[in-house]
Amino acid sequence: MTPYLIRNVSVVGAAPTDLLIRDGVVAETGSGLTAPDAGVIDGTGLVALPGLVDLHTHLREPGREDAETVESGSRAAALGGYTAVCAMANTSPVADTAGVVEQVWRLGREAGLVDVQPIGAVTVGLAGERLAELGAMADSAARVRIFSDDGHCVADPKLMRRALEYVKAFDGIIAQHAEEPRLTEGAQMHEGEVSTRLGLTGWPAVAEEAIIARDVLLAEHVGSRLHVCHVSTAGSVEVLRQAKARGVRVTAEVTPHHLLLTDAKAETYDPVYKVNPPLRTDTDIAALRAALAEGVIDIVATDHAPHAVEDKECEWAYARPGMLGLETALSIALDVLGPEWDLIAERMSRTPARIAGLDSHGVDPAPGVPANLTLVDPAARRVIEPADLASRSRNTPYARMTLPGRIVATFLRGEPTVLDGKAVK
Ligand SMILES: [Zn+2]
Repeated sequence: MTPYLIRNVSVVGAAPTDLLIRDGVVAETGSGLTAPDAGVIDGTGLVALPGLVDLHTHLREPGREDAETVESGSRAAALGGYTAVCAMANTSPVADTAGVVEQVWRLGREAGLVDVQPIGAVTVGLAGERLAELGAMADSAARVRIFSDDGHCVADPKLMRRALEYVKAFDGIIAQHAEEPRLTEGAQMHEGEVSTRLGLTGWPAVAEEAIIARDVLLAEHVGSRLHVCHVSTAGSVEVLRQAKARGVRVTAEVTPHHLLLTDAKAETYDPVYKVNPPLRTDTDIAALRAALAEGVIDIVATDHAPHAVEDKECEWAYARPGMLGLETALSIALDVLGPEWDLIAERMSRTPARIAGLDSHGVDPAPGVPANLTLVDPAARRVIEPADLASRSRNTPYARMTLPGRIVATFLRGEPTVLDGKAVK
């Protein structure tokens, strides 16, 4: 394993230092380090962050390898500065058995670009009718700790309660896609002024808020851990704020796109902006940004949702919801939060690693720590060209936008997965 000496790099915004990576760990830090056998990276002007951790990635394998594979999604993740991703269960077949979660986990190991931690389905086939084999998935080689029917809401309160009770035994988490399905039948976009003007059926904010309110009460009653996926409304923030103030064991995520883009994008009728939950309003964005800074929302998660061309480049009503996210998330965070490195490390690495129980991730580079880290050039600006993305899909809402920041290098256990901004393998 080649050692690497990164000279003159700022670790999470601190004064520049040298970092020596050897045998999978950060071996040494300090100024004027030497290591004749090491590859040297000039870190001047760069910031080292603990490798980013995504709690919400759709890798599409097994089943839709035309849209993404574990390998292509892992490469996209590494290029985005990630060292670990949690893979959502809505594959085909659904990841609702030990066999499927082990398959995804093994494919992640084979790709070797990021740690792929499978999320198991809560219900068989995501059908919302009976609990999947949660215990068998937890006991499998994939050691599943987070369960989610993401894409669908676990709408039945009795089933949600039982799921929370079941995972309590091993301190597991139910990650909810909060959408009351009766309130969003036929929904095409956020319910508001723009949907009225366009004559499209709306997805009301209350459909999200009602489920979060119910679920925090259930989690409180059971004493279990709840995670709320892709929070998108100001009202949801208030529900979470109250729940956290009462000590409910709830964590929450927001996506980069919900921090930046509004429902006005629907006026273009370009399905690249169709996503679930939908893009909301400026008022929601302001509330989400404040909640993220405060900690009412714990983390940024991408909801990276690759789709093949035929599922996305069609009429709005027929397009599948979802956007790419892994290769642009850090840039959007920089754009939205500014160079608040400690906050970025907290919301995109340390806290998601802690929620997922990924102990070797989310730790700031320091002597003895596993060398899972990424180097960012905050001064760089780049134009997003969909054709340049490592994802097999092209559905980025940031095409041809100029975004701040560039990932220069990423290391997984001391091995570079990205060097000079390019994937190593
Ligand atoms: Zn979802």
